[in-house]
Amino acid sequence: MRSWWLGLVPVLVSSGACTAPEAAWFKGNLHTHSLWSDGNDFPEVIARWYKDRDYDFLAISDHNTIQDGEKWLKVDDVVARGARAGVKRYRELFGADWVETRTKDGKLEVRLRRFDEYRPLLEQPGQFLLIRSEEITDAFDKRPIHINATNIHEHIAPQHGGSVREVMRNNLRAVAAQGERLEVPIVAHLNHPNFKWAITAEDLAAVVEESFFEIYNGHPGTGHRGDATHATPDQIWDIANTLRIAELHAPPLFGLGVDDSHNYWNSSGSTPGRGWVMVRARALTAEALCQAMMAGDFYASSGVVLADVSFADGQLQLRIEAAPGVTYRTEFRGTRRGFDRTTAPVEQDGKVIEGVTLRYSDEVGAVLAIEEGTSPSYRLRGDELYVRAIVTSDQPPENPVWDGQRQQAWTQPVGWR
Ligand SMILES: [Zn+2]
Ligand SMILES: [Zn+2]
Repeated sequence: MRSWWLGLVPVLVSSGACTAPEAAWFKGNLHTHSLWSDGNDFPEVIARWYKDRDYDFLAISDHNTIQDGEKWLKVDDVVARGARAGVKRYRELFGADWVETRTKDGKLEVRLRRFDEYRPLLEQPGQFLLIRSEEITDAFDKRPIHINATNIHEHIAPQHGGSVREVMRNNLRAVAAQGERLEVPIVAHLNHPNFKWAITAEDLAAVVEESFFEIYNGHPGTGHRGDATHATPDQIWDIANTLRIAELHAPPLFGLGVDDSHNYWNSSGSTPGRGWVMVRARALTAEALCQAMMAGDFYASSGVVLADVSFADGQLQLRIEAAPGVTYRTEFRGTRRGFDRTTAPVEQDGKVIEGVTLRYSDEVGAVLAIEEGTSPSYRLRGDELYVRAIVTSDQPPENPVWDGQRQQAWTQPVGWR
């Protein structure tokens, strides 16, 4: 039997030589909420929002549902969630015939259209793709453990477990088992590691069944900047990559940018349009996109657009699609063999804090080079465990999450094979 999951260890990293000439970049968001769970708009309205803004694909990833079965909501509850016009905008956009309502116990209710119902209404071959998804929403000891399964075909209930790592593993194994059984590629990515400081770099390193995590999540509550006692997602990524390659002889993680959007009627909160992935694939299909991601042929963005990323002959090379008058700074980060392996516990007011990422030396995820301009490149010296690039522009995103935020792009680690 053909198994995508036997190919879990990515087999190629983006390189001019390996990419078919017809491969193109596709823009998409793989973390989105609707009224099917705790988002505040109808999935069709949300899909329309992304489609109108030139996204190529979207996965609406509601908590523990694949948007199946019959679900009615009280219109009052829809309004209370923040969808101020209730079903009015829904009706205006999709017509009175599309919007199904009923009165039950004297209350007006609206039915949520299933994924299979609304998908054909929004999809356009080669133009806009909807991918079925679920945010498998689990926890251990008050630590939220959320894993998105992109291109899932059947609902997976949270699998639980006796530790953070076991919960991660059990859910990842359930996703892998479905992928194998149905012979479809499913990308399972660990969401927002810093949400409630749930997942440490050591957890992410140890659970080698996981190949993907969110380097950028546009939800303001997901700890993107870390704090005095918690590592940033960038630090978590470098530590986990280093531990995996140096100690576990496992591949590093690939990083995604996502919205985790819930609020479509608000100017603040987790609004759409803040984080996305650009995937280089041969076709706009769920299979082609998942395979390209498994091969590491994608990058994460909060605004910076790359025309090309390549890794060939020991050289990581980027071409930035420059906006007029904007300057770009690229940091190449990585860890060299023979790095200082010293770690220290995190302390606050003289007390050791348990359950957080340890402190590592500056040689873990060291800044190997910094380049200005639109064609930055880094030639590997040969002793790097991996190298990755972070591009930062001098411009804020359209809808910043914090004051002083700048548009960025994150490429995947290379040089580790
Ligand atoms: Zn979540
Ligand atoms: Zn979410």
